[in-house]
Amino acid sequence: MAGIYIHIPYCRKLCSYCDFYHVIAPGNTDAFVSALLKEAELRKDYLGKEEVSTIYFGGGTPSLLSASDLSGIIKALRATFSVEEDCEITAELNPDDVTGDYASALADTGINRISMGVQSWKDSHLKMLNRRHNSAQAANALETLFRAGFENVTIDLIYGLPGMTTSEWASNIDFSLSFAIRHLSAYHLTIEAGTVFGKMREKGLLSEIEEEESTAQFNTLLEKTEDAGFIHYEISNFGKPGYFSLHNSNYWKQVPYLGLGPSAHSYNGYSRQWNLKDVKKYLGSARKGNFPFELEELNSRTRFNEYIMTSLRTMWGIDLEYVERVFEKEGYDYIVNLSGKFREYGLMRQEKKNLVLTNQGILISDNIISEFMMPGEG
Ligand code: SF4
Repeated sequence: MAGIYIHIPYCRKLCSYCDFYHVIAPGNTDAFVSALLKEAELRKDYLGKEEVSTIYFGGGTPSLLSASDLSGIIKALRATFSVEEDCEITAELNPDDVTGDYASALADTGINRISMGVQSWKDSHLKMLNRRHNSAQAANALETLFRAGFENVTIDLIYGLPGMTTSEWASNIDFSLSFAIRHLSAYHLTIEAGTVFGKMREKGLLSEIEEEESTAQFNTLLEKTEDAGFIHYEISNFGKPGYFSLHNSNYWKQVPYLGLGPSAHSYNGYSRQWNLKDVKKYLGSARKGNFPFELEELNSRTRFNEYIMTSLRTMWGIDLEYVERVFEKEGYDYIVNLSGKFREYGLMRQEKKNLVLTNQGILISDNIISEFMMPGEG
């Protein structure tokens, strides 16, 4: 099994919180699409003989590409790689790009899962985030996608916004759940340095919400999604049974993936590599037929740390049998000894051979995960 991630680096407007690699979209994206196809061709052996079970168009804003461009990329990937017939193919869309014609055309491309960046149903929040769309456009876009035949639809929401109350957040969740969505990703706002929000914080114009409010919003999220039949399978992800994101689940299970496009990361089990964050250079590389990248070789300690970082975020947690098999007695003993105090404080629990975070543990997951990181060189 393997995945392919395609980074479309263009946006029409820059959101205040965003630190994904993106630039303002040019009028014409033909050169970029050709460059992507060139990169796919040059890197066709990266995944070896693995069958591709997921393709993910992320960004940036994939919906700035026409349906025929997206369809062309999918066809080229199918011709170049061994792509499973029923491959999960996701595209991230911006609500204001979703017209009836665009949605129907997308339904014919092979894309079978849609991820839409709603973020909030309150227009004042959307303005603060500098999003392009308003809430009415997001609601129309969802209905349009369902009418076009998309069944597997997920939306993104953000909570913990400066000034957001828990009751506003509760209404955002309720309204989201009134649609036939099968999956929800909900992220607590992180103010990253270098973003518009980061600069505002430096000037004292913006601050994070109180921890108590954050906790209340997270608990509201857990209660409401559980009542609506969603399973909390990863810290920020909730899915109806059968609708978990296969692509992201594979990242967490350390399945290899190939990343195409500027800034995209790739992983083959032994190393990680990432393309330069520079569209101009990317287009130049396509002309030269050589895409430069940076590489990190993984050793058993870094592989162990990556496993902890990803597995502890999921409902399956750390699989002790896997740890014993792959990281041997040393890795197993390290985890079991360290987990004792977290279990004692009710932050972790053991379910058969798996160690998982409790809801209380999830609230301080970053701290717990960093305690599990194995220090050293080898
Ligand atoms: S959040 Fe999405 S749409 Fe907004 S700037 Fe970032 S990548 Fe672009």
